[in-house]
This record gives sequence, C-alpha cells and structure tokens, in this order.
Amino acid sequence: MLNKQELLEKDSKYLWHQISPHNENPMIVVSGEGSWITTIDGERFFDGMSGLWCVNIGHGREEIAEVAKEQIKTIAYASLVQSHVPAIELAAKINEWLEGNYRIFYSNSGSDANEVAFKIARQYHHQNGEPTRHKFISRHRAYHGNSMGALAATGQAHRKIKYEPLTPGFLHVPPPYCYRCPFGKEKGSCQLECAQIYDEVMNWEGAETVAGVILEPVITGGGVIVPPPEYLQEVRKICDKYGVLMIVDEVICGFGRSGAKFGHFNFSVKPDIVTMAKGITSAYSPLSATAVRAEIYQAFKQPEADAHFRHINTFGGNPVSCAIALKNIEILEKENLVGQAAKMGKLLEEKLARLTVHPHVGDIRVFGFLAGIELVEDKESKEPVSTDIMLKVLSECQKQGLLAGKNSDTVPGFNNIITLSPPFVTSEKEIDFIVDTLDQALECLAAADKVNIGG
Ligand code: PMP
Repeated sequence: MLNKQELLEKDSKYLWHQISPHNENPMIVVSGEGSWITTIDGERFFDGMSGLWCVNIGHGREEIAEVAKEQIKTIAYASLVQSHVPAIELAAKINEWLEGNYRIFYSNSGSDANEVAFKIARQYHHQNGEPTRHKFISRHRAYHGNSMGALAATGQAHRKIKYEPLTPGFLHVPPPYCYRCPFGKEKGSCQLECAQIYDEVMNWEGAETVAGVILEPVITGGGVIVPPPEYLQEVRKICDKYGVLMIVDEVICGFGRSGAKFGHFNFSVKPDIVTMAKGITSAYSPLSATAVRAEIYQAFKQPEADAHFRHINTFGGNPVSCAIALKNIEILEKENLVGQAAKMGKLLEEKLARLTVHPHVGDIRVFGFLAGIELVEDKESKEPVSTDIMLKVLSECQKQGLLAGKNSDTVPGFNNIITLSPPFVTSEKEIDFIVDTLDQALECLAAADKVNIGG
C-alpha cells in the first residue's frame, strides 16, 4: 500500500525535480492507460502533452512490457563496439521510415543525438578538407537540449545564462514566426526574409566557417511555431549553395507527431542529418538516434584511425531500448497511428477554432497533432499575457482533469503559449473534452477580467 505522506516527505527530502522548485507539492503519478494517467490519490488526468511530448502510443501497452521482458531474458546489454540484433533491425527500420540511405548512431537522449550531430558535422568537414567549418546556425526560441553544445544551439536566453560560457561557435537567426514576424512582414506577402537571413549570415560570417544549420521542422517547445510552407526548402537551397550541412531535429516531430512519419516530409526536403528521440520508443525506454546520410558516413570509413568517429557511450543502442523501439514502431504501423495523429490533429484544429472568440486568444496554431494557443492581453496589441494568467488557465484545466503544457516556465513574455501534444490514441470524444475544458478555462479568465474592471 502506497503511503502518500511518507512518499511526499521522501520526495521533499531527496528528490531534485526538473524545472519546478523543490517545495512544491508534486503530483505523484502511479499508473497510466491510453491517454490517461492516475495519481496516488486516484485522480485521473488526460495527458494532453503525452508526458514531455513523448508517449505517442499511449500508456500501459502490454506488448511493450512483453518485449522488454523477453529482451532482458535474452540479453540485456551488449555494446555497439560489437553489434546486436535489435540495433541492426532498428537501424534498418529507421531507414525504411526515413525513406533514404542513412547510417544510424544511437545515443540516450535528444540532447545526446544533437551533440553527436554537431561532432559528426565538424569532423566531416575536417575530413573533407574544410577544417575551418565549425559554426552552427540555429534559431531564437528553439530548444535543442540541455548539454553544453545542445544548449548553445538553443535560442532561449533564460535556459542558458547561468551556465555560460557554453560551447562556442553557435549563432542564431530569428524564427519563422508569422504571428510576430521578426521582420515586420505580413503573412503571405513577404520574401521569406526568415529564410534569406541564413544566406546573409553565412556571407557575413564567411561560409567557409559554417559547418551546419540545426532546425526543427516546426519549432515545438518554443511555442509550436509553424514556418511558411517553402521555408525549409529555401533553407535547404542556401545550405547547398554554401556547402553547409542541414541537421533536422526530429526529437519531437519524428515518428508521427507531425502527421507524417517525420516532420520534414511535410516540407519535401532531404536533410543531411536527422536527430530523433522521444517518439522512437514512445518514451517506454530512453533511446535516441542520429541518422547521417550515407555519403557523409563515407568520410568516416577511411582506413586511417583518425578518420573514425571517436565517440562512445555506454547505453546508446541498448538492446532493450532498441527492442522496445521496434515494437513501438510495429504498433505505430499496425494501428496506423501516424494516420490517426494526422486525423485527430485536423479534428483538433477544427474544434479549437471556436476558441478565437475569447479575447485573450491571439493565435491558434496546429500542425500534425501539435497545438499552440497563444494568449495575449488583447488582440490588437498582441502583448503576451502575464505568467499569472497563464498559470490560472492551466490550473483551471487541471481542475477539470486536463494536463496541458506551456512553452516555458515563468519567464514573462515567453510563457504565453498553451501547448498540446496528445497521445495518438486520443479519441474524438477526448478531443471534445480537451476543447471544452480549454473553453471553460478561458471563460473563467473572461469572468475574472469582468471582476477586475468592475463589470
Ligand atoms: N530537441 C528538441 C526539439 C526537444 O524538444 C528536446 C527535449 N524536449 C531535445 C532536443 C532534448 O531532448 P532530451 O530532453 O531527451 O535531451
């Protein structure tokens, strides 16, 4: 029998929580099924963010438990200095899903996968006779991970400043954020300045110093920012023009979240390197991968020892994680969950549209099965709502049983976007529940506004 009080005492004494401070009264999650989780108090919540954008096939899958058990009994660990069956089969499966010819390097987390991409890109240029290429161009608002390189690529100051100096050589350009165009343009009547800026930066930096660009197909954690349809192709063209590698971070968008197998499929571009994590196992076990175009891999195949990629990690490609990933992908295929994510995303988009009547709803963006609802003080000024308002809406949702997310923690001006990333197994009825709950929570804000102005 679980003793909540005892657990809370141990939690407050021993556990270091992520992001939130220690002294909060955390929700203790004990089980999950489908799109719902249950707490120690027996309360059920709809997991509107699939954990941290990751439990795509939903909670409580017996088949995954079975495959993990079998793999542990067969062999729980072998390194990839040698090889093993689940790693081989999964690498082939990822290639099938990527519809290209890629070499797969395994790691443990999205951050790791991006670090590997940076190291491979730098070494590739060395071996390709261009050792001066070391810089990476990322975007403001983007999140690429917590380690010193991935954090350097991240374009959110509040996550970085207390840990600087980070890895040198990372530059940022403004994001393709049509609702607040950094170039002061109107959607549909611009010259894609957000893409052309890469050309300018490469020129001014000296293209011969630039190793790669890193970008998500859609900026997810930074507020579900959907680029104009031609944006990625334009960036691809500029990368080609200057011999710069295009690294696409599919940590969230990959494995169906975008409504396609990978996010970049929606934009018809071929990246040089693709990084993936979260949805690869639906977070049933930690695993990530860096997929590298076969031509790039050739530069590492030279017989000289110093041509090898001198990177090793103990757990990357763990057999149990790879076996789980294979089963996860099998489930995605068998249940047509990528198609289902696309379908449910469309439905969510249609239903969310009615929320635009609320005075604080500035913009609603849905891509695949990802949604961002940007809250503003008023539609005219587009001033982001305060942290208090954001927390009020989210806590109203929680009271009604919906766990929604937000684009950031308590950073004024950068925490005004409600995010949704539901499990792919979400039903039409559950979509109604999400939208009705948000509607009511926004209604509460309107009621509070009336009280504040004495209405
Ligand atoms: N890239 C993106 C786009 C992410 O959203 C995240 C994590 N949310 C990461 C990288 C880092 O992944 P991890 O937390 O597994 O290190």
